[in-house]
Amino acid sequence: VASREVKPEPTLVKAGSLEVGNGKCGVIAGPCSVESEDQIVETAKAVKAAGATALRGGAFKPRTSPYSFQGLKEEGLKMLATAREETGLAVVTEVVASEDVQLVAKYADVLQIGARNMQNYRLLEEVGRVDRAVLLKRGPSATIDELLLAAEYILNEGNSRVMLCERGIRTFESHTRFTLPLATVTYLHQKTHLPVVIDPSHGTGHAALVPDMCVAAVAIGADGIIVEVHPEPDEAMSDGYQSLDLPTFAETMKRCRAVANAV
Ligand code: PEP
Ligand code: MN
Repeated sequence: VASREVKPEPTLVKAGSLEVGNGKCGVIAGPCSVESEDQIVETAKAVKAAGATALRGGAFKPRTSPYSFQGLKEEGLKMLATAREETGLAVVTEVVASEDVQLVAKYADVLQIGARNMQNYRLLEEVGRVDRAVLLKRGPSATIDELLLAAEYILNEGNSRVMLCERGIRTFESHTRFTLPLATVTYLHQKTHLPVVIDPSHGTGHAALVPDMCVAAVAIGADGIIVEVHPEPDEAMSDGYQSLDLPTFAETMKRCRAVANAV
């Protein structure tokens, strides 16, 4: 059902202020984690002014170490809803467990399935049964065909608002946190009607590499980008080293617009 042979025209996914696919390039920006109301509202206002069309922020964080910050949970979801009220930006946030889907759906416009959960099939079925768009991230060790099959779990439950996300894969290269294959966009556009979003933050793991990868993603026709942005990256509770500060994000957006309008 994700195949272009079944549906040749590209799918446009809409969720509040966010439009992704069929010529629309969505920009999802915000911190890795929601840390406080001030932090999320300040970031939401700044990324909106810079041109973002949706706000990201994790309230349930799937951390590699159980000793790392795990997120503010429902308190964080409420802060995201406040930021949406203040800015009008759609909220994109991760759900890590089937039993949390209803709760997260109460506050979110887009349910993010994280890389670690791409093959959590019960969770995929659960988000397939709610009326919320889904951003499905590629697992770092999953093939593109496995990503497409994961998407089918969601589509088959009746939810047609699925966006695919390339967020980098595990390779032998250790200079970057993951390796970001931008060719995934072109390949997926040939195979599927679903929109493709690039995550240059997790894809590189270094803030210094993120702006160019945002511009490159737009240049090759990605349907969206999801970018980690923090008012004070050095103080961030997660992924500060790959987060853009507010001025750098605004500058990056200008470069993206120049590329998008160049044709
Ligand atoms: C995130 O978006 O902060 C995140 C945890 O991403 P991923 O699942 O791609 O690692
Ligand atoms: Mn992160």
